[in-house]
Amino acid sequence: MADPAQCSIKVVCRFRPLNSSEVARGDKYIPKFQGEDCVTIGGKPYYFDRVFQSNTTQVQFYNAVAQKIVKDVLEGYNGTIFAYGQTSSGKTHTMEGKLHDPDMMGIIPRIVQDIFNYIYSMDENLEFHIKVSYFEIYLDKIRDLLDVTKTNLSVHEDKNRVPYVKGCTERFVCSPQEVMDAIDEGKNNRHVAVTNMNEHSSRSHSIFLINIKQENTQTEQKLTGKLYLVDLAGSEKVGKTGAEGTVLDEAKMINKSLSSLGIVISALAEGSSYIPYRDSKMTRILQDSLGGNCRTTMVICCSPSSFNDAETKSTLLFGQRAKTIKNTVSLNVELTAEQWKNKWEKEKEKNKTLKSTVTWLETELNRWRNGESVPVEEQFDKEKAKAEVQVLDSALNNDKAAPTPALSTLPGVKLTDAEKEKYEAEMAKLYKELDDKDEEINQQSQLIEKLNQQMLDQEELLASSHRDHDTLQTELNRLLAENEASKEEVKEVLQALEELAVNYDQKSQEVEDKTKEFEALSEELNQKSSSLASIDSELQKLKEMTNHQKKRVTEMMSSLLKDLAEIGIAVGSNDIKQQESTGVIDEEFTVARLYISKMKSEVKTMVKRSKQLESSQAESSQKMEETERELTACQLRISQYEAKIKSLTDCLQNVEQKKRQLEENVDSLSEEIVRIKAQGVVEDANLNLCMLAFPQEAVEKQIQSHREAHQRQISSLRDDLDNKEKLLTELQDLNQKIMLEQERLRVEHEKLKAADQEKSRQLQELTVLQDRQEQARQDLKGLEETVARELQTLHNLRRLFVQDLSTRVRKNAQMDSDDSEGSAAQKQKICFLESNLEQLTKVHKQLVRDNADLRSEIPKMEKRLRATAERVKALEAALKEAKENAARDRKRYQQEVERIKDAVKPKNMGRRASAIIGRWTDIHMLESRLTAGISVKNLSKRYLPTPLRLTHNFTSFV
Ligand code: ADP
Ligand code: MG
Repeated sequence: MADPAQCSIKVVCRFRPLNSSEVARGDKYIPKFQGEDCVTIGGKPYYFDRVFQSNTTQVQFYNAVAQKIVKDVLEGYNGTIFAYGQTSSGKTHTMEGKLHDPDMMGIIPRIVQDIFNYIYSMDENLEFHIKVSYFEIYLDKIRDLLDVTKTNLSVHEDKNRVPYVKGCTERFVCSPQEVMDAIDEGKNNRHVAVTNMNEHSSRSHSIFLINIKQENTQTEQKLTGKLYLVDLAGSEKVGKTGAEGTVLDEAKMINKSLSSLGIVISALAEGSSYIPYRDSKMTRILQDSLGGNCRTTMVICCSPSSFNDAETKSTLLFGQRAKTIKNTVSLNVELTAEQWKNKWEKEKEKNKTLKSTVTWLETELNRWRNGESVPVEEQFDKEKAKAEVQVLDSALNNDKAAPTPALSTLPGVKLTDAEKEKYEAEMAKLYKELDDKDEEINQQSQLIEKLNQQMLDQEELLASSHRDHDTLQTELNRLLAENEASKEEVKEVLQALEELAVNYDQKSQEVEDKTKEFEALSEELNQKSSSLASIDSELQKLKEMTNHQKKRVTEMMSSLLKDLAEIGIAVGSNDIKQQESTGVIDEEFTVARLYISKMKSEVKTMVKRSKQLESSQAESSQKMEETERELTACQLRISQYEAKIKSLTDCLQNVEQKKRQLEENVDSLSEEIVRIKAQGVVEDANLNLCMLAFPQEAVEKQIQSHREAHQRQISSLRDDLDNKEKLLTELQDLNQKIMLEQERLRVEHEKLKAADQEKSRQLQELTVLQDRQEQARQDLKGLEETVARELQTLHNLRRLFVQDLSTRVRKNAQMDSDDSEGSAAQKQKICFLESNLEQLTKVHKQLVRDNADLRSEIPKMEKRLRATAERVKALEAALKEAKENAARDRKRYQQEVERIKDAVKPKNMGRRASAIIGRWTDIHMLESRLTAGISVKNLSKRYLPTPLRLTHNFTSFV
């Protein structure tokens, strides 16, 4: 454990090159560099740990300033790098640079890279936990850049009284890429949240924190190192507020943190007893980096331009002040139990020696106080005591926790230990309370912010609803106007229709009249033609009669002439005879005269009659001519009328067509009205709001309510209709599905049937097989029996043969003595019998073998038979089940179909009814639109189709 090591803050200064606008303006390059650590401005030298000229590259700067800090942090020390300077002096360039450009990247990406490289090269037993946080401080509020929802975080102290940002996102990382991703994400969030990034970054501090914890898995030693990388706000902000001499609240708030940083650094530089870390969040977070347990490097960024002369100087002065600050760094190590024990022992030892020193001193003091003079050799020697203490210290080669600024350091205050303890406890309590209050304040401010946000949202919502309302109002007005116009149009159309109807009536009346006239005329014509025909026939008769008369007259004349001639002849002869008998002649003559006179009178009457007839004929022909004339006139008129009728019918057709068109127009207009009304429903709701604000006349309200009721009814009916239609489609879908299901079931059924057939076939086969097996078994049994029988006979035969043999042998023995001649024949016989026997035994053996084989086959066969029977049974059961299933499915399906059919039927009917109602509403609308003077009822009675007229009654019912 290292001793608490005092080390001052390292301050380096970096000048950027003149930028293009400065060059363009012709600004002078003012800094003069002397050696590595001095820069002179206006003849005044400023000394720093290092001074970097404008041509310093990023790599050079990093290697000289930041590289070492990686090692420190990984060895368990805290580290901080600040960048301080006015806006556009190169702070961000130094800290971040171009994050993904290997040449232009700044400190942060290089440190990240180096940390991982270092870790890779370290002991394998070390286990690292690296986490990063990224936040910014703006208007003294801490905003988490890795979680945009955290906008106002608070600072707390941990158990070692080290401040930290409470609730800040800590992201665990295990590669440089992940760290860079986090930085990118944070930068992105920062850009998204603000409108003017340049302005924002010049007013806010961004802090990137890398926390590295390592554990040696063997020794269980734990080390932690924190590295803060801080890009401060532009330093000119401090200057400005100071220059104006006024404490502008806003400006103060804008950079409260920066000014408190200045104050803290001043206080530290002056060695003041009270350091106001708690004045701002930033100074609190970086408390350890400023005069605490931290290796701190401050980069003073400066512009070289003469234009920024004053600002550069104040920046350099700030840096010089910071240079005097001393930090006390120590290793952040978590001791193991053994180490703690050792430390405790050593501390105890140290305490003992210190106590002895104290007693020594006290006794000496008492002696002095009592007026005694203590000899030099007995006096307490400071050097000696220090040496002793150092000896002890070196013996206690261990680390000590960082001393907290205690009350004992305060000069001029003398306190007893108990009091000290009490006060410290009190102070701790108070700080705790302070923190709690802080937290509370934060929560409250967060709440306020949230509420503000909500208020803004609400306002926006209100404004938008106002806007909506306005647009709706205008829309409503427009719609009303449209509605009015449509009404007007409808009115006009209806008027036109009415006129048309009247016109139509007139025309049809006219047509009727004309037709009637035409009919009368044609009747008259008919009459005339019939009279003409009768006259013709009369004329004909008369002509015939005349002819007849003429004929008779000519006949009569001819007979008369003949008579006359006869008479003449007779007269001639009579003349001769007369001389003979004049008396007779005279007599005859008188007769003839009488006759002639009679004839004469007759001729006369005849002539008269013929004259009469001729006159009557002339008369008739005259009359006929007249009639003919009349007829042609009539025909002409008829054709005229016909032409007129034709034109009239054409006209009628035209009118009819026009009427239809107008009716269609009316229909479409009424539809439009309905549509507008439907749209109006929404606006009416808004209108209601307006109505509340501006109460209107009762009548209008009533009308409104009526209209609303109508609309509601209509909309409900429409909804109903829609619902029904939806239901219908659903049902259709269902039906379709069921059809499909049915199809599927049918196919399944077919399959099952096929399977069934297949199975029954198999069953048949199996039964056949079984039969055959049974047969085979019986056959086998028979065979066995025959074999047994055969064996039995064989045995018998053998016995007989043996008997025979023995008897023969005996006989042979008897005969041997008597005669041996038959022995050869007997021998032959014996041979034959022996071979026979041999053959028989062979056959027997074979049979026995066969039998055994067959016997061994029997259980196998039986087993197979059993298995087959079982299989048959299982198949039969499966078949039965499948059949049952199919039947069930079929039944269920049928039921379903029935149910759906039943369900669909009323729906269809309902749909038809709703269609009628829909049409009724249209008509009703049309009717309600009508103003006085137009009898639509009549109109509708006359022109609307009957079903509509029927539904008309429905209105009164509703
Ligand atoms: P700050 O963060 O202090 O407001 P920036 O880092 O944004 O300033 O720098 C402002 C401009 O100056 C940037 O365009 C940057 O590239 C440039 N710049 C700053 N320092 C240097 C330098 N050392 N070398 C080259 N260009 C620099
Ligand atoms: Mg910047």
